[in-house]
Amino acid sequence: MLLFQSAQIRIAIWYVAIVFIICSAFSIFIYKTVTISLEHSFEAAELRLRAKSNDPFFAVLPTARPFVVLLIDDLNEAKKEVALRLVVIDVFILLFSAVAGYILGGKTLQPIELAVNEQKRFVSDASHELRTPLTSLKAEIEVALRDRKLSLKDAKALIKSNLEEVDKMQHLTNYLLACSRYGNSTTELPFEKFKVTKIVDGAVKKVTPLATKKGIKLVVDAESFDIRGNLASLEELLVILLDNGIKYSDKGKKIFLKVKLNKSIAIFEIIDHGIGIKASDVPYIFNRFYRADVSRSKEHVDGYGLGLAIAKSIVEVHKGEIKVKSQINEGTTFKVMLPV
Ligand code: ADP
Repeated sequence: MLLFQSAQIRIAIWYVAIVFIICSAFSIFIYKTVTISLEHSFEAAELRLRAKSNDPFFAVLPTARPFVVLLIDDLNEAKKEVALRLVVIDVFILLFSAVAGYILGGKTLQPIELAVNEQKRFVSDASHELRTPLTSLKAEIEVALRDRKLSLKDAKALIKSNLEEVDKMQHLTNYLLACSRYGNSTTELPFEKFKVTKIVDGAVKKVTPLATKKGIKLVVDAESFDIRGNLASLEELLVILLDNGIKYSDKGKKIFLKVKLNKSIAIFEIIDHGIGIKASDVPYIFNRFYRADVSRSKEHVDGYGLGLAIAKSIVEVHKGEIKVKSQINEGTTFKVMLPV
């Protein structure tokens, strides 16, 4: 993506600029220190030579004078050498920091790029899901408006059908809101301490009408203990898992909800004997908008593939773990482990 590539280059430039300032400061300091100490050594050597040239024994040597001139040349040569080496080292460090800056910039931006891409995909999937009921709503209304002989009965049937679509959209928007609420790590959910039976009772109460409608029996076996967490979201978690159990089980089946405490870990098991999940689908069912092949179910099953993504986010907010075990046509068990 162009935006991220230019940001990566800008980060690399900043790295190089910072390294350049540090290198320059160090190089100037080193150059000054080295040349001062060189000058001192050369001065000492010159003094020694001058003293020797005054020495009557040394003075007889014809090469004594040029020695002093040579020393000054050597000093200048040594200073140049020091400067040249420092420049070469600095250029090498700057080249290295440019490459390292570019790579590190890429690494820094990678999670942000992934999050932005994920957000884009989410928005486009959500818009797509909303467009379908909106299109059918619009088509139905347009057809009805063109019908001059629309009876009251037809109009009522149309409104009923429209209401169903509106219900679906409301359901979807609730899901989308939940996704952004739990998927956003910056929003902190208020935690409190309560009896685990509170969420169990709340969730069971919510899904009972659906289960009754389908002739499914809910069997609850819950220990009573205290748990710390966000009451509403934990209730939502159980509702999602129980609701799936009901949706993906045939009429007359049983669904078990077991809750127990094991060494400060609350364990929730939701067991159904429904259609099960193909092993190849299991790694993806917690992804947003992923729906496994549900044609094996005897009835049409509505859904958006968001429930388990929300469930996983809720579990993560509570620093827990969610696992699934499933066998085609045998059933599915979701196991949630949460620290209490
Ligand atoms: P939805 O149920 O709305 O499609 P979910 O995110 O809740 O979305 O579930 C994702 C997919 O996982 C479902 O489409 C379904 O194929 C599969 N699934 C989830 N729970 C069960 C279950 N208890 N039994 C069988 N399949 C399930």
